[in-house]
Amino acid sequence: MRVAIFGTGYVGLVTGTCLADVGHQVVCVDIDQAKVDGLNRGVIPIYEPGLEPMVKANHAASRLAFTTDAASAITHGQVIFIAVGTPPDEDGSADLQYVLAVARTIGTHMAVPTVVVNKSTVPVGTADKVRAAIAEVLAARGVEIAFDVVSNPEFLKEGDAVADCMRPDRIVVGASNPDSVALMRRLYAPFNRNHDRVVEMDVRSAELTKYAANAMLATKISFMNEIANIAEKVGADIEQVRQGIGSDPRIGWHFIYPGAGYGGSCFPKDVQALARTAQQHGHEPKLLNAVEAVNEAQKGHLYQLIQRHYDRGEDEGVRGKTFAVWGLAFKPNTDDMREASSRRLLAQLWEGGASVRAYDPEATDEARRIFGERDDLVFCDNAYDALDGADALVVVTEWKQFRSPDFVRLREVLNDAVVFDGRNLYDPQEIEAAGLAYYGIGRGRSLHA
Ligand code: NAD
Repeated sequence: MRVAIFGTGYVGLVTGTCLADVGHQVVCVDIDQAKVDGLNRGVIPIYEPGLEPMVKANHAASRLAFTTDAASAITHGQVIFIAVGTPPDEDGSADLQYVLAVARTIGTHMAVPTVVVNKSTVPVGTADKVRAAIAEVLAARGVEIAFDVVSNPEFLKEGDAVADCMRPDRIVVGASNPDSVALMRRLYAPFNRNHDRVVEMDVRSAELTKYAANAMLATKISFMNEIANIAEKVGADIEQVRQGIGSDPRIGWHFIYPGAGYGGSCFPKDVQALARTAQQHGHEPKLLNAVEAVNEAQKGHLYQLIQRHYDRGEDEGVRGKTFAVWGLAFKPNTDDMREASSRRLLAQLWEGGASVRAYDPEATDEARRIFGERDDLVFCDNAYDALDGADALVVVTEWKQFRSPDFVRLREVLNDAVVFDGRNLYDPQEIEAAGLAYYGIGRGRSLHA
C-alpha cells in the first residue's frame, strides 16, 4: 500500500520504517528541512536500537522516502498518517496546532478519496476537529472528495520502539466506517499474522484508550514512589516490599519500580492533558492530579537525599561539591531528555553551588543542546571518567552498563565515598560493605536519614 506519514519524530520515523520493512511504499514528510536532508543522507536524528540499519535498508530499497514536499506525499498516500507532536499548552491541555496544521495541508492537496489516520496522542474529540479542518479547506476549494478520519493511537516505547512496532501487543483502530477498518486491517496484516491484535472500537474510545494506558502506567509509578516515601519514614525496604507485592498476579511485576520520577515525552504531558480534558467536561480528576503531584515531588527527591547527607545548615551542604551523574536520558536506550528527572536534579545541584560531571551512553549531544557550555558541567566519555575528581555519585538513569560497577573503585575514587541511587540498582549491604554510604529510593540510608 502507499502510505504518507506527517511527522518524522520517534513515532513517525519508527512507524514509517516498520511499514516500509514489510513492503509498503512509505513517504515520510517533515517541516524540518535539516532533519529530512539528514535522513536522505542516512543520518538518523534519534537514538533507537535497531532503527538505523532498517532506515538505511528500506531507503536504499526505495520503499522509504523523506521529503518536505507535503503535496507530493499527499498525492502518494492512500493512507495518510498524522504523527506530529502534541506538546502541552500553557494550561497542560494538548496543543493541537501541529495536528490541525497537517489536517489543513491534507485538505489543501487531497485529490482522491483518502483515509486520514491520527497516530498522535490527542484528546477525545480531535478526530472531529481534524475532519472539520479538512472539510473547511475542501469547501473553500469548492471540491467534494470523500475522506475518513481514523484514530490509531501508538503504544510504542522509546528504547524498544522498533520491536514494539514490529510485534505490537495490540493495534487499536477507532473508526466508524467499515471500509476504513478493512483498509487498516490490510495495512497492518503483516504485523497481525500470529493472532488477531486489532482491537476495533469507536473513534472517541480509541482516543481515550491511549490516555488511559499512559495514565494507568504513570499511576503505578507514582503509587510505588509514594509507598517508597512511606517506607523511608517507617524504616521498611521498598525493594523487599516490591518483591512482596509483584508476586501477586493481580498486581504484577511491571511498572512497580520506585525511582527518581517519570519523565519523557508522554507520561507527564498525557496525564496533564487527560486531567484537563476531565476538568473541561466538569469532572475533577482527583487521582490524576495526585499522580502528577507525586511525580513532581519525586523528581526533587534525590536532591533532598543529597541535602540530608550533606546537611551543614543554611543549604550550604553541596556548595563547591562535584557530583558524578550517571544517566541523563529519561530512561535507558534512548537519547530523549524531554522532562527527564536529570534536568531537575542538575538544576538543583547548580542552584546549590555544585558542579556536575555527567555521563550518558547516548544523550550527551542532546544534553549539550539543552544546557549549552557551562563551567559547572563536564560531559565525560565513560562512566568511570565521570568519577574523576567527583565527591559523590548520583545514578539517574538505569542503563544496563551501570548495574554492576566496581564498588571498591568507586570508594577509592569518590572523595566523599557516597552513592545516591535514583533507580535502586544496587544492594545496600553490598555497597556499604565496600565502604560506601548508600542512599536509594526507599532503601539504604534513606530509611534512617
Ligand atoms: P517528535 O517531537 O519526536 O516528532 C514530531 C515531528 O513532527 C517533528 O520532527 C516535527 O518537525 C514534525 N512536524 C511538526 N509539524 C509538522 C507538519 N506540519 N508537517 C510535518 N511534520 C511536522 O514527536 P513524537 O515523540 O514522535 O510524538 C508524536 C506524537 O506521538 C505525539 O502526539 C506523542 O504524544 C505521540 N506518541 C509518542 C510516543 C513516544 O514514545 N515518543 C509514543 C506514543 C505516542
